[in-house]
Amino acid sequence: MTSSVLVLGAGMVGTCTAIHLAQRGHQVVLADRRAPGEETSYGNAGLIQQEAVEPYAFPREAAKLLRAAFKRGLDVNYHAAALPGLAGPLARYWQASGPAHYPAIAQAYARLIAQAIPEHAPLIAAAGAEDLVQRTGYRWVFRETATMDEALARAERLHSAYGVRHVAMDAGALAAAEPALKARLAGAIHWPDPWAVRDPGALVARYAAHFTQLGGRIVKADAGTLRENGAGWSLQSADGPLEAEHAVIALGPWADTLLRPLGYRLPLFVKRGYHRHYTGGPVPTMPWLDADRGLVVAPMQRGVRLTTGAEFAARDAAATPWQLAGAEAAARELLDLPQPVEATPWRGARPCTADMLPVVGAAPRHRGLWFNFGHAHQGFTLGPACGRLLAELIDGQPPMVDPAPYAPARF
Ligand SMILES: Cc1cc2nc3c(=O)[nH]c(=O)nc-3n(C[C@H](O)[C@H](O)[C@H](O)COP(=O)(O)OP(=O)(O)OC[C@H]3O[C@@H](n4cnc5c(N)ncnc54)[C@H](O)[C@@H]3O)c2cc1C
Repeated sequence: MTSSVLVLGAGMVGTCTAIHLAQRGHQVVLADRRAPGEETSYGNAGLIQQEAVEPYAFPREAAKLLRAAFKRGLDVNYHAAALPGLAGPLARYWQASGPAHYPAIAQAYARLIAQAIPEHAPLIAAAGAEDLVQRTGYRWVFRETATMDEALARAERLHSAYGVRHVAMDAGALAAAEPALKARLAGAIHWPDPWAVRDPGALVARYAAHFTQLGGRIVKADAGTLRENGAGWSLQSADGPLEAEHAVIALGPWADTLLRPLGYRLPLFVKRGYHRHYTGGPVPTMPWLDADRGLVVAPMQRGVRLTTGAEFAARDAAATPWQLAGAEAAARELLDLPQPVEATPWRGARPCTADMLPVVGAAPRHRGLWFNFGHAHQGFTLGPACGRLLAELIDGQPPMVDPAPYAPARF
């Protein structure tokens, strides 16, 4: 039976949810205060990460913890003022990253990641977005032999456990394959199967245009006007009041703002990140992760995009882009980056959960309310798979994967 659905949030996750619901014949309105794909789903590194089968665990090795605590690397920053508020979710993140819980979490994560490329592929084709996608994989480049050896051992483990493919490259092979690289490095791991998107926000916009071709409607609205209304939900939009039987919260890092007035206290937090584009220099053949410095360099339509690691801070606290300043200096050791495009760096926030798994499924205490958020480091990758999963749950179809590990009721 078809029904009416309001999807709140037109990032990668909400847009894909809306498409899958529209494909199943539901009447769908996709609501956002901005145009589709202008927030976190715009600012990421653009990788559809088929290799990211295990989520980012809280580091447990003393050396890594001390490095983060003393801000010795570029990969992690934190605001001391935010730590009291983060203590609860971070304690649960630490616990979930331990040997008692992490293996099952990684298995559940890998089951979703396995669907990422199979679910993006038909959407890219239907949305006419082939021009935005490069299918040559990406590389982790290493300055130090020791870190490369450690990463290679992990890559081999991921191959035997999950079938993830990689190619080890020595210094000479990397130099030959990547003429833009101006330093001789220890080598690289090439992950051949991930896809790289040249303009992540544009891909979401194309998906959103495809959604309207399927009969969906896009409106400007403030999600904060969502109200329970008899048997359904209402929303005030720029086009007037809207009503529907179901509402989906797909607000990425803003989900918590809407959940709290509804009485939900989920262990959510954000890891902020920054980017900036540069033009005028050589363009890498594909994205790289500088594994020893924790930054990603990605060739994009606006220029070479430099993205940073995790900043533990309140979502809306003032920007403190020292990681980007450090990343820029580190990246310039490898690549000429003559002109920054933006006067100030872009800032966004990865929407994280304490157990590293996204929240996909029925709201525990409200009829007709559904959640799809908390995709952390891989929401751009996972949008289509999680959009399909939630549409199947709303539709009452057999789900593509066992939904229990992602159910909101687990918290
Ligand atoms: C630096 C960085 C690099 C990353 N790199 C990658 C990568 O390479 N690959 C990958 O898979 N993932 C990556 N990620 C993570 C990925 O970007 C996110 O997980 C993903 O974009 C989340 O998508 P979303 O749709 O949940 O959220 P969003 O894209 O943020 O969408 C949420 C939407 O909600 C809307 N909204 C919020 N509040 C309201 C309101 N009150 N009313 C109406 N609308 C509202 C916003 O306007 C927004 O459009 C990266 C993230 C960062 C920060």
